[in-house]
Amino acid sequence: MLILDGKMTAATIRGELRGQAAALRARHGRAPGLVVILVGDNPASQIYVRNKERACEDVGIASRCIRLPADIPQAQLEDTILILNRDPDIDGILLQLPLPKGLDSQRCLELIDPSKDVDGFHPMNMGRLTLGLPCLRSCTPAGIMSLLARYDLNVAGKKVVVIGRSNIVGKPLALMLLQKNATVTICHSKTNDLRSEVSGADFVFAAVGIPKFVTADMVKPGAVVIDVGINRTERGLVGDCDFAGLQGVASAMTPVPGGVGPMTIAQLLVNTLDAYVEHVSGC
Ligand code: NAD
Repeated sequence: MLILDGKMTAATIRGELRGQAAALRARHGRAPGLVVILVGDNPASQIYVRNKERACEDVGIASRCIRLPADIPQAQLEDTILILNRDPDIDGILLQLPLPKGLDSQRCLELIDPSKDVDGFHPMNMGRLTLGLPCLRSCTPAGIMSLLARYDLNVAGKKVVVIGRSNIVGKPLALMLLQKNATVTICHSKTNDLRSEVSGADFVFAAVGIPKFVTADMVKPGAVVIDVGINRTERGLVGDCDFAGLQGVASAMTPVPGGVGPMTIAQLLVNTLDAYVEHVSGC
């Protein structure tokens, strides 16, 4: 079984971005800028934000984190976003989710200038994705598409099953696969016979949030399995797929950790650079 190495692929992409960022900075006189807004003290969010900051530094993106207290009023959080929308040195605004209880994340996401929406969550970007128009695309699914492309895995004409229909992974991933001419089935918690849907698939994408949800007996021999899940267990981080069991069945698979996760961060850097290019060329 071929292991789809997201860590190595992300490092290659970061190397390419480093060169691009340096050339752009020399031409336009400023570095691309990303701001992460972190509200409250969710420990997992703190780790994600630190990883994003490190990755930015590595490629020459100027990043900063705005830390706000968990009890910040909604209006003040919205004002913070509006100020960043107007800041000409900021190309990307990322609101780290989930927000503490009482704050309306959807309202905040919709306030972010779509040209700075490097998470691709704004309805404008989601709508453009649906229409097949250029846009900032959600990082996890776009990172997965980039990993498939780097390994020359072509989904055109293939039966693909996406398990999970969240707005951040399942839905945008299904749209991106459709755009690449896959025949897409989306499964979710209300799917009647998930097993039979999965068993006919050439590609299986699992974004469920349940350890070992996809097992060897569900998957067609030779299928490609992309494990999006990140589950914290006593054994550390595990995905949604039974990696050991699938080794003799799948033809290629992503590990957890080291698969989709690093590609997600690499895509955030790609999106920030894309947003920067749009901003500097619009000046
Ligand atoms: P979510 O909870 O928003 O969505 C889970 C989806 O799984 C839902 O659409 C639900 O319908 C479906 N589901 C739940 N139980 C099911 C069942 N029994 N049968 C079929 N479908 C079922 O989660 P999400 O935000 O989409 O994330 C999914 C997983 O991916 C999580 O483990 C998350 O941590 C991980 N994730 C990883 C990355 C990354 O960078 N690798 C990024 C985002 C999310």
